[in-house]
Amino acid sequence: MIVNAYGATSATEPLEPMTVERRDPGPHDVQIAVRYAGICHSDIHTVRSEWGPARYPVVPGHEIAGEVTALGSEVTKFRVGDRVGVGCFVDSCRECAACVRGEEQYCERGMVGTYNAKGRDGQPTQGGYSTGIVVDENYVLRVPESIDYAAAAPLLCAGITLFSPLRHWNVGPGKKVAIIGLGGLGHMGVKLAAAMGAEVTVLSQSLKKMEDGLRLGASHYYATSDPDTFTVLRNHFDVIINTVSANLDMHPYFGMLAVDGTLVEVGLPEHPVPVNVFDLTRNRRSFAGSMIGGIAQTQEMLDFCAEHGIGAEIELISADQINEAYERVIASDVRYRFVIDTATLEAPATA
Ligand code: NAP
Ligand code: ZN
Ligand code: ZN
Repeated sequence: MIVNAYGATSATEPLEPMTVERRDPGPHDVQIAVRYAGICHSDIHTVRSEWGPARYPVVPGHEIAGEVTALGSEVTKFRVGDRVGVGCFVDSCRECAACVRGEEQYCERGMVGTYNAKGRDGQPTQGGYSTGIVVDENYVLRVPESIDYAAAAPLLCAGITLFSPLRHWNVGPGKKVAIIGLGGLGHMGVKLAAAMGAEVTVLSQSLKKMEDGLRLGASHYYATSDPDTFTVLRNHFDVIINTVSANLDMHPYFGMLAVDGTLVEVGLPEHPVPVNVFDLTRNRRSFAGSMIGGIAQTQEMLDFCAEHGIGAEIELISADQINEAYERVIASDVRYRFVIDTATLEAPATA
């Protein structure tokens, strides 16, 4: 099957229309008509080779929502017409301790990324900025009826990336949680942590988005450009989740952690992050990281979102706005996730 797509041919050129060939569904495969694809900052890091050289051409997109259009002969979990989602990975070894535990994102042999990776068949994987994709049924999620397709797409990465650490560090009633950066990940963090019953604070570069932050569920909102923020909130938080895509000086943020507090890094900036260990020994603080979530927990997150009426706040765009959207994401000018309407993906003009 040949599908229309949008992708990058190098780290420096804008993305452009292209086509991708998808395999015929094997016995355990689900063929999906992609309806909406979210733009994650990781897409930008990848296509610009900020995390090391990408394998061009790259069709990004790992926040995928769509509909099942065909099934392999042995598929049992889905039917044609089902509302489904695909997140950051489409396969893993299924045998290692992590896979057996249901934490496929930490597969010891390496998960197979939805794009910019090599599939188990040896072919390069290509992502969701496309009109169709074929994925093994074990890596496909069910999107509950009550969540709008377009608002559901960003849950597949931004949603689970925040849900997983919030659960792991037992965020709930009585816990004070801060989210650094109110972008795609950050706004999901605010909604999810508030729904879990925690007291949520947004730490943003300015107060520009304060009204939104409070509407999304935060109780407090501070600008990190104001040095007083770091004095007022000294030794304050149980958990801080850093979603910022750029390198920050972490020293003042560690100062905001209470005794036994943890700062969880989910943002993946290009350069290493220096740590002064005195910031950790004081208050017995921890500095941790977290990467997306396993398939079972992603389903749990989608069901949690349905139960709590949570979807992403999105700005729907057409294919010809993707490059401009990238620039706006980099400028922190996104409220709060760009989502591509894949019906606007056209085949490249033939020369
Ligand atoms: P995003 O929508 O661009 O949000 C990042 C936010 O960080 C911005 O909205 C902005 O918030 C803040 N920010 C940006 N540049 C900044 C700077 N120079 N100084 C201070 N704050 C800055 O990006 P995203 O899609 O949420 O992704 C965020 C990061 O997480 C990326 O690095 C991405 O690759 C990574 N990621 C990790 C995982 C994982 O599994 N760990 C999964 C997905 C994405 P304010 O305007 O509110 O300050
Ligand atoms: Zn992502
Ligand atoms: Zn594995």
